[in-house]
Amino acid sequence: MDQPNVVLVASPGLGHLIPILELGNRLSSVLNVNVTILAITSGSSSSAETEAIRVAAARTACQITELPSVDIDNLVEPDATVFTKIMVKIRATKSAVREAVESMKPKPTVMIVDFLGTGLMSVADDLDLTAKYVYVPSHAWFLAVMVYMPVWDTTVEGEYVDIKEPLKIPGCKPVGRKELMETMLDRSDQQYKECVRAGLEVPTSDGVLVNTWEELQGNTLAALREDEELSRVIKVPVYAIGPIVRSNGHVEKHNGIFEWLDKQRERSVVYVCLGSGGTLSFEQTIELAWGLELSGQKFLWVLRRPASYLGASSSDDDQVIESLPKGFLDRTCGVGLVTTQWAPQVEILSHRSVGAFLSHCGWSSVLESLTKGVPIVAWPLYAEQWMNATLLTEEIGVAVRTSELPSEKVIGREEVASLVRKIVAEEDEEGQKIRAKAEEVRVSSERAWTQGGSSHRALFEWAKRCRLVS
Ligand code: UDP
Repeated sequence: MDQPNVVLVASPGLGHLIPILELGNRLSSVLNVNVTILAITSGSSSSAETEAIRVAAARTACQITELPSVDIDNLVEPDATVFTKIMVKIRATKSAVREAVESMKPKPTVMIVDFLGTGLMSVADDLDLTAKYVYVPSHAWFLAVMVYMPVWDTTVEGEYVDIKEPLKIPGCKPVGRKELMETMLDRSDQQYKECVRAGLEVPTSDGVLVNTWEELQGNTLAALREDEELSRVIKVPVYAIGPIVRSNGHVEKHNGIFEWLDKQRERSVVYVCLGSGGTLSFEQTIELAWGLELSGQKFLWVLRRPASYLGASSSDDDQVIESLPKGFLDRTCGVGLVTTQWAPQVEILSHRSVGAFLSHCGWSSVLESLTKGVPIVAWPLYAEQWMNATLLTEEIGVAVRTSELPSEKVIGREEVASLVRKIVAEEDEEGQKIRAKAEEVRVSSERAWTQGGSSHRALFEWAKRCRLVS
């Protein structure tokens, strides 16, 4: 008998394709199903995207089909946000998705869309598939906000940024001013309306797969399933199947980063990286550099060109280095390593010398850190990262964070130095507690995916329900 076919739809952009690809890899390796990924391309950087898809395709058992970008110029306002454009583009690709699914042989039985692709689920109904699911590559609190936003939309007056009291979600941590997602900052903007719409569409699925695990977010998951009001809002089952995250790849033997890391003391280095797109202002870059230097701790910094910095040099790399304080590289020679290249992050976080991660708190970065037991200095910049920072510091206890939002205020060098010292210096009591918690979380993340662990069980329960396994 043929293996069952599952079709996954990835929203435009590598940031959306990668989590779907990791999910696809997990489904095919654990459940022994055929996985086809339909990758909607963004069109803007299509050659880079196509190249990344080609590289990904070479390394996966999943079949990846690229869906060409659809022109949406006449469907959106010229000043629409990137988020709005993505949502509109996804809907405009519906007939292409439908055609691609229809042409698959044998016909897939299950369709999974990511959290931005909820507008595509009717394709599964039209083609009479067995089930349609939403994959939330983020955490359970994010899912709760997503599905509860339509309730706030009808009950809260005025702008959320003006709220005096945090926004309540039954059974979950409320959402305060400093946790609002970027898309919630202006209720008159189309991107806010798109979020509400996605929140309304989730309950029309057969269920949600979420990239967290029971031991990490038991209370929030329980609220989503059992709280009288919240479970009535979401309506469908929630399967916590995380952490699903990229595993270590091959590293070149003579890579300078690892040669340097090899020479450092165990757990002594703070790794600094603000994701695939996170950039700092010129002023903030200077303060961060001074802070790292003042901390006296070892550091590995993936430095990107500061926003709106126009240095004198012609080369991009030189410009980035020029944005550092004068003499910084000489003074920190031997203490720190600065790279302007794309870093092998998972492999870096796995290195025994890395003791902390100064991160923008994108959920993939967070999971890559937690699965290695590395505590975090939270430096949230955009999207839902402010929520993630609160979750890590206030609920899970594996991070310290800046006193103000780095997206709103320049964080001074003294504060940077103190945060870094707290998290890597051995004598600090709060740091010790955080480090111990990070190790506990690492162990629980491993346990969740052992045979019979919570996420392993949840995936099989889901697969049975979809008749992918007997
Ligand atoms: N990443 C990397 N090297 C870099 C920067 C980022 O490997 O120099 C990877 C990182 O490991 C993670 C992803 O890019 O898997 C970033 O995803 P995340 O959700 O953390 O943040 P985003 O970039 O989407 O905001």
